[in-house]
Amino acid sequence: MNKDFLLKLLNTSSPSGMEKEVQLLWLDYMKNYSHKTETDNVGNAYAILNPDADFKVMIAAHGDEIGFMIKRIDDKGFIYLEKLGGISPKIAIGMKIKIMGKKEITGIVGANAEHHGGVKEKLTIDDIYIDCGFRNKEEAIEFLNIGDMAVYVRTAQLLQNNRISSKALDNKSGSFIIAEVMKNLIDKNLNIGVYAVNTSTEETNQGGAYFAGSRIAPNLAIICDVTFATDYPSVNQSKHGEYSLDKGPVLAKGAPINSKINLLLEKSAKELDINLQYELTPGRTGTDADTIKYTGKGVPIALVSLPIRYMHSPVETASFNDIQNEIDLLTNFILNLKPSTNLNPLS
Ligand SMILES: [Zn+2]
Repeated sequence: MNKDFLLKLLNTSSPSGMEKEVQLLWLDYMKNYSHKTETDNVGNAYAILNPDADFKVMIAAHGDEIGFMIKRIDDKGFIYLEKLGGISPKIAIGMKIKIMGKKEITGIVGANAEHHGGVKEKLTIDDIYIDCGFRNKEEAIEFLNIGDMAVYVRTAQLLQNNRISSKALDNKSGSFIIAEVMKNLIDKNLNIGVYAVNTSTEETNQGGAYFAGSRIAPNLAIICDVTFATDYPSVNQSKHGEYSLDKGPVLAKGAPINSKINLLLEKSAKELDINLQYELTPGRTGTDADTIKYTGKGVPIALVSLPIRYMHSPVETASFNDIQNEIDLLTNFILNLKPSTNLNPLS
């Protein structure tokens, strides 16, 4: 596993709708592990094996990350924010933030001192602001403007026991996993087409997924995202289920999922002696899978998720053991796929 490439992805910013830098990085890496790369009108990046094959499997991960947008600059040069995706303002207090404006600039999210009453208990996005050190609005607009995007400044951190903490493991881990799967497949003599897609805008509107599904019209799609590990203090496991780091990839079960794909994934897991965990998605999955399923004549989908702690925070935490298992699982699944595979639930 090329851990350095994951670190590069994690340290490259891609706020939802502004994914260019990470997409170019991903495409450049994928040139070595695909027969063709493509882009489209909505910011998706594609890497394809056997583009002429009739039977097409899509493996998709979203390349964007949550962040902020600049809403207002006040006369004193303080900068107010709007959420870009599901970001938590409470966790932003005290963080460094990079604004990707005319000229990139870093500031901090101010926090009211305990001496002065401390941070409000019910904090909303309207209560936080960025302080870049500007003395007035004029200084600020030299660097940035309304509508610019911003992300946390956070370098990925390796932890004990083969674990990693970073912002945006949701879903740079997925972008990495599909890249490594392609790397495993490039020198195999496949008789099916494999379409790896790093989608845009999942965290905000899943528009990338819609056009990726429509463009490829795959016979099946596996969506690689992250899900909530619940193996840390204070999580109510009776309510949220038991999901742990190091216990393997998480398969979704429920109405949106094609159970025949799950059976094939389970067969691969058994062959490789990989443990699986299961999550329930009775109605919707809350991922690109929902959107891809509804493209064309309907796409059979499965959702394979990496368990991570502290979702949507700057310290999301995952295990490299799970990442490796997911790469192996998907590689084996694709190697076993036959063009005659019938995924129609009624036959
Ligand atoms: Zn995600």
